[in-house]
Amino acid sequence: MKLKIFYLTLFLTGLMTTACQSFGPEVSSPPPSSLFTDTWNSGIDKSEPSFHIQNIDANTVVFRQSLRTTFEAPFIYLLFGEDRALLIDTGVEGGGLRTEVDKQIEQWLLSNKRKKIQLTVMHTHGHGDHIGGDSSFQDRPNTEIVGHTPEAVSDFFGIADWPSESVTYDLGARLVEILPTPGHHPAHVMVFDSATHILFTGDTIYPGRIYFKCGKLDALTKTIDKVATFAKTHNVQWFLGGHIEMMATPGEVFPQDKKSRRGEHLLELPVSNLKDFQAGLKDLLNKLVITEYDEFILLPHPADPRGKKPPNWCLTED
Ligand SMILES: [Zn+2]
Repeated sequence: MKLKIFYLTLFLTGLMTTACQSFGPEVSSPPPSSLFTDTWNSGIDKSEPSFHIQNIDANTVVFRQSLRTTFEAPFIYLLFGEDRALLIDTGVEGGGLRTEVDKQIEQWLLSNKRKKIQLTVMHTHGHGDHIGGDSSFQDRPNTEIVGHTPEAVSDFFGIADWPSESVTYDLGARLVEILPTPGHHPAHVMVFDSATHILFTGDTIYPGRIYFKCGKLDALTKTIDKVATFAKTHNVQWFLGGHIEMMATPGEVFPQDKKSRRGEHLLELPVSNLKDFQAGLKDLLNKLVITEYDEFILLPHPADPRGKKPPNWCLTED
């Protein structure tokens, strides 16, 4: 009898597991975007181009590298001032970003009746999916490429006191502010654009998995507190990060390797999101576990999924 109950339980468990796998989370559509006309390409069309490009305005261009070429599908930003264009990140290697950036710059020069403009290539941080296209810009005329260590970023922008000091960088009638924001990566920075009131947040704030080594919880907490103060005093309207990994359905995330993602979350996150973020990081001080929220997931790693280990069990420091 006991054996029959055991097999019945096994059968029902199997049935439930199969049902969950078949149906998965409900796919919902995101609300209309406040910034973009089109829904971002998300690998549904196998023949989608290597980059999906949309403008926020005539001087602000956003590129998304195709999910069909990389599961990271990073977002890359190009800002034009009167004297200088600023490229934030270069994506995953081999995507052909240089050609697309050159086309956008040529179009902008034509529209603005200009012959040339300087280009600065910088990065939100030094991970491979944000610096992968650097080599294709190395021989580009009128171009400077910023390194991706705290020292290199500080030297280029003139930051004397990393990570406490933020500095202004002038693109010509368009000021951006460079904020050191370590936590996800030691040289992570965010870029605030005073023209659009957008804070480009890299991989520190975006609708997806916010990875950080558990020994960096303190650095990330300080960063998020700093961003909260900055957002209040600088009228930040939106956060635009490096990826979309969440679904439009609150709290649901796509499997990392899924190349076709129907029902993605919007790219932009509202500033109100920070309250959850700050509260979530404080909770992690007591119990260092993966924690899911409606619009992001805090993902200390390597993490103990049961949360039974103390918060100081990390061995790695960088
Ligand atoms: Zn990334």
